[in-house]
Amino acid sequence: MPDIIAYFGPLELAGAAGLLILLAIGTAWIAWRRAAHRRRQRLLDSLPYPALVFHGRHPRAHNSPGADWLANLDVQAIAADALTRRQTVVRTIPAVEGQSFQARAVALSRGEVMVLLEDLAAAQRQQAFYRNFIQNVSHELKTPLTVIQGHAARLGDVPGDTESWQASRRIIADEGKRLTQLVDNLLTLARLESPAFSLDLAPLHLSGLLEEAILQVSDLAEARQIGLSLNLAPGLPRLDGDRARLKQVVLNLLDNALKYTPPGGSVVVSARLGEGAEAAHLVCAVQDTGEGIPVDDLPYIFEKLYRARRARGRPVEGSGLGLTIAQQIIRAHGGDLRVETAVGHGTTFTFTLPVKP
Ligand code: ADP
Repeated sequence: MPDIIAYFGPLELAGAAGLLILLAIGTAWIAWRRAAHRRRQRLLDSLPYPALVFHGRHPRAHNSPGADWLANLDVQAIAADALTRRQTVVRTIPAVEGQSFQARAVALSRGEVMVLLEDLAAAQRQQAFYRNFIQNVSHELKTPLTVIQGHAARLGDVPGDTESWQASRRIIADEGKRLTQLVDNLLTLARLESPAFSLDLAPLHLSGLLEEAILQVSDLAEARQIGLSLNLAPGLPRLDGDRARLKQVVLNLLDNALKYTPPGGSVVVSARLGEGAEAAHLVCAVQDTGEGIPVDDLPYIFEKLYRARRARGRPVEGSGLGLTIAQQIIRAHGGDLRVETAVGHGTTFTFTLPVKP
């Protein structure tokens, strides 16, 4: 007994305490890892589509729809690719039993990659359902709206009416107009996104189309005390385009420029032949001296139904569909729509359209 006491001097005690601490840290680390694995498994199980976690090419975890993909070589290759590049890789996996899948591999920490698989056919079916739903509802809304607007117009201002009656009639007419525009925009978007959509192409002069659009909004510009001008480079070539759709693009951009520019400002529409990488394109810009678009809103303005924060809180009419429609039409023509803006100074939307060499 005295021998044992002699062996447990201060050094031995410190060693034993160190061992105990290491043991405690090890146990805590194992418990933490187990909890992390359980959290990861809960996340995987909550996903309705196949999801797997790889370490290199080796599967580490998966949910039950993911079990069928454990040995898939394409999935393993995407996981390894995301790990090497240390970034998200998205790739379509060729048809498996008639279905095409989109694989998204996201590099996690500690050499792990999560692969998520989306059934493209199901996604397309869902999109088609959503498109048809919007189209049908919009069609159903169109007739009653036309009736409401017609009756609001027929009521007119009757002598002896109280001011509040007149105000109510004006509100019905204005709101009816706003709803009709929204429904029209929804229908246009549904048509543009339909697989059956095609442009009605014919040779046209962009300059004529721009002059017409300017004329169409000139009263509005005058009422809002905004200067409106057109700046055309000489000798612009013709292009093959869908006249009605392109005019809609220019009107949407002009409408926004006039909406978001205060009185005393100016809007300039210009068109020229592109240079450098845009040499075979016409370049058209709608430039305003308005409020500009905050940098936080910029990534989203082309998204459906998005309205910048400033526009949402104010009585500025709009549905957040104008830019989405404009971008789809320009892209369908093989062109591009971009924006440059500075808050408090103004915004320029520029679109390009290819011309025949
Ligand atoms: P909206 O019907 O709201 O105008 P759009 O799709 O046409 O919808 O535009 C989306 C958002 O982009 C608008 O809500 C507005 O905040 C912003 N925006 C578009 N054009 C301009 C512009 N010329 N100046 C400032 N903001 C603009």
